[in-house]
Amino acid sequence: MSDIHGHHHEHHHGDGNGSYMGHEHHHEHHNEHHHHEHHHHHEEEGGVKGTIVKIAVAAVLLVAARLVEEFTSLSQWQLLLVYLVPYFIVGWETLHEAAEGLARGEALDEHFLMSIATLGALTIGFLPGAEPQLAEAVFVMLFYQVGELFEGIAEGKSRRSIAHLTALRPDIAHLVQEGKVEDVRPEKVVVGDIIQVRPGERIPLDGTVTEGDSSLDTAALTGESLPRGIHPGEEVFSGCINLSGVLHIKVSKPFGASTVMKILDLVEHAAAGKSQSERFITRFARIYTPAVVVAALLLVLIPVFLGESLAVWGYRALLFLVVSCPCALVISVPLAFFGGIGGASRKGILVKGGNWLEVLARTGTVVFDKTGTLTQGVFEVTAVHPEKIDGQELLHLAAHVERYSAHPIAVSLKNAYPGEQDGCLVSQVEDLAGQGVRAQVNGQTVCVGNTRLMDSIGAAWLPCEKSGTIVHVAIDGLYAGHIVISDRIKDDAAQAIEGLRKAGIQHTVMLTGDNEQTARSVAETLGLNEFHAGLLPADKVHLLEKLVRKEKGRRAVAFVGDGINDAPVLARADLGIAMGGLGQDAAIEAADVVLMDDRPSKIVTAIRLARRTLRIARENTVFAIGVKLAVLVLALLGLASMAMAVFADVGVTVLAVLNSMRCLRK
Ligand code: ADP
Ligand code: MG
Repeated sequence: MSDIHGHHHEHHHGDGNGSYMGHEHHHEHHNEHHHHEHHHHHEEEGGVKGTIVKIAVAAVLLVAARLVEEFTSLSQWQLLLVYLVPYFIVGWETLHEAAEGLARGEALDEHFLMSIATLGALTIGFLPGAEPQLAEAVFVMLFYQVGELFEGIAEGKSRRSIAHLTALRPDIAHLVQEGKVEDVRPEKVVVGDIIQVRPGERIPLDGTVTEGDSSLDTAALTGESLPRGIHPGEEVFSGCINLSGVLHIKVSKPFGASTVMKILDLVEHAAAGKSQSERFITRFARIYTPAVVVAALLLVLIPVFLGESLAVWGYRALLFLVVSCPCALVISVPLAFFGGIGGASRKGILVKGGNWLEVLARTGTVVFDKTGTLTQGVFEVTAVHPEKIDGQELLHLAAHVERYSAHPIAVSLKNAYPGEQDGCLVSQVEDLAGQGVRAQVNGQTVCVGNTRLMDSIGAAWLPCEKSGTIVHVAIDGLYAGHIVISDRIKDDAAQAIEGLRKAGIQHTVMLTGDNEQTARSVAETLGLNEFHAGLLPADKVHLLEKLVRKEKGRRAVAFVGDGINDAPVLARADLGIAMGGLGQDAAIEAADVVLMDDRPSKIVTAIRLARRTLRIARENTVFAIGVKLAVLVLALLGLASMAMAVFADVGVTVLAVLNSMRCLRK
């Protein structure tokens, strides 16, 4: 239980706003966090088994001691010695932690509460007129350990489900040099090297296929196990599994910057942002425990001062201490959030902290980007309408201008005209976000983009009767025609909007830089409430701010994007959700939630999961406080027994932990 505390002390950052600042902050704490995680992991491995053995041995010895008490006539002192054996076996660590905490002058914690309560129970029998409570003292300590055990198991489970992705880390790469293949560590491979990947192996580094045909299982990155065919010239991402043929891959990124390492880094720090409820619980525990100790003292001192029996009120104060232990809350609430993050990651949803689960749960408006988010971002050329030049030449120029752009339109045009090495000179490439690209091709200034770009350079563009995204081309300011391309709506986009509506989120908005006609057709097909077309990235930010103001801070505004031309909006929204499964680094960085498989319907899953997590955390809080208050009242009236006190403490903790575990499941 001290570990939960430790977490809180060390990771009190991330203020719950989706700014870049917040994220930088996380990074500063990287090392520290890392360290802690590892430390914890080791503890957990051996810890669970050790605790079980300890509890079992102590339980047997406790029964034995009880038999000795029953059938022999040992004195109170001798019995104490007999009971101290199981007591120390099961309680040594707790006593030690309490003493250490006290020596360091830290705030009193639940170890301290448990220690004084059980030590009190061990000694109360020596007071004149008091019933001995030896077996009860050992029992309390024993059950306290059972609670810890449950916590360890539950936390281990969540941790493992988050860390199942860590199995992705590759440890060798087959480096091809002068026809020979050598196995090296992936860190040693440099950009431009050729590596070989055999069937059944995980691709260790990002790159482009130079030789071989195969299919890939991308499930590890996207949760989607449909094999994807792969051929020379295509880009592949580390972490995917090569299923059939031998591939030769020209490495495009160093290991540290590879997709797999990016994702691992994110996963490792996923739980860093603490939720409001978690932080509240920590603060609460810090004030609460000393208050309980003082109250227990008063509970003994006042009646005794008034001439009441020390034995009676001492016992009640002990019950009070046991009941008041805040374990159930301190453990189960963070565990619920942790489980929620773990459960989400099992479904390919990476939530960067418990705080984002809270924001997800109170989302009222979901704003979507169009290209690459609601649509696949894979355009097909449906028509080429040249003006005064040849159609092939128009495609050729457009593909050259787009050579360095990562925009889905650019990628599609390059695929439509893949003649890269034809000796054309391309220079001074300028990306005009939300409008297009300008570059020098063989000494001519070529602009490729939408009507806004054509207007800004004064080219007399012609409208097109065909529906789709129109890519206009101008050479030296003179209009040269347009290419009509069309995108397809993602299979599950309609399902996503429908699911949101069913989840009570009525307000769905689409923002796009594309033309009105295309935007309208997508919005109508999907049944979105609202859409805005022809936007520049800055317009998207303004519109989003307007939507945020409209919600008046009551419900959150989530923005879902692919990170191309919309990273600022992702960062500005109450909650940034990135379609970041493959490739878009900036989006993965800026977002608070990452959908690994780029499926918009996962937003509904995420929202439902977040709501469930919050509900479970709330249930635990109400249940724990309710039972404790009831038993406290009984204790004050002298109607409670040690068994009831133990239930109110450990029983409630175990039930709350079990309840929290539900967050992990479907
Ligand atoms: P969306 O909001 O749909 O994601 P963007 O903001 O990325 O779209 O782009 C808006 C519009 O700008 C596109 O529909 C296209 O007309 C034009 N555009 C942007 N980038 C390019 C490019 N690389 N090549 C051609 N046109 C582009
Ligand atoms: Mg976009």
